[in-house]
Amino acid sequence: MSEICVEISGLKKSFGPLEVLKNIDLSVNRGDVVCIIGPSGSGKSTLLRCVNLLEEPNGGKITVNGTELTDPDVDIDRARTKIGMVFQGFNLFSHLNVLNNLMVAQRKVLKRSEREAREVALRNLDRVGLRDKVAAMPAQLSGGQQQRAAIARALSMDPEVMLFDEPTSALDPELVGDVLGVMRQLADEGMTMLVVTHEMQFAREVADKVIFMDGGYIVEEGPAAEVIGNPQEERTKSFLARVL
Ligand code: ADP
Ligand code: MG
Repeated sequence: MSEICVEISGLKKSFGPLEVLKNIDLSVNRGDVVCIIGPSGSGKSTLLRCVNLLEEPNGGKITVNGTELTDPDVDIDRARTKIGMVFQGFNLFSHLNVLNNLMVAQRKVLKRSEREAREVALRNLDRVGLRDKVAAMPAQLSGGQQQRAAIARALSMDPEVMLFDEPTSALDPELVGDVLGVMRQLADEGMTMLVVTHEMQFAREVADKVIFMDGGYIVEEGPAAEVIGNPQEERTKSFLARVL
């Protein structure tokens, strides 16, 4: 039996009258990569944002590593440190160099010593191939380097799960491969990952499970070879015909 890392049941989220997530059930095993695909506006980002409680669900239950995030008594800030998130835009602190970007939350949130935070930061910069950019300011980096630094920053918090929301969508095409390469390596190392992406090749090769979302529902889910290679639902077929 695989151990479940993320368990979502009956998740609902509305913005005013707009029901964005209608009844989402999803479980992610530890070490698995789940890719979420679907048209713009289908609720993919909202789903990820609910998983680290950047959005408060209106109903349902989310459990990450045995901690029920939707329990009103849970220490959200503490639970959130175990969940890494990388967004489409580059979210580095523009006034801090790369090293300090990776150290600040370790120091403030995890209360690590300067020395330990620095060691962890350097180790994670190595992991993403950016050790030589340790003193660079974000504006001096390419988009792909910024995104890899953002991944290294998230990894420096020792997350138990990593959430990626279209991490390559804003990149020039020639920079996409480097970022996907780092994500592939993380997957190989056994990181549990939830990845919203339009990179079908990545999903086919890396995902243990692919989720197709439309209109706030999970319409179809299964191995990539089935959902992308041999979709059953009309909505999945027409989406794939547009993106492939
Ligand atoms: P996706 O990531 O699949 O493109 P989103 O989760 O970003 O979809 O958005 C789903 C729907 O929810 C869209 O109609 C979007 O306009 C709406 N939405 C997202 N965030 C908010 C918000 N903070 N306030 C109001 N509507 C929102
Ligand atoms: Mg989105």
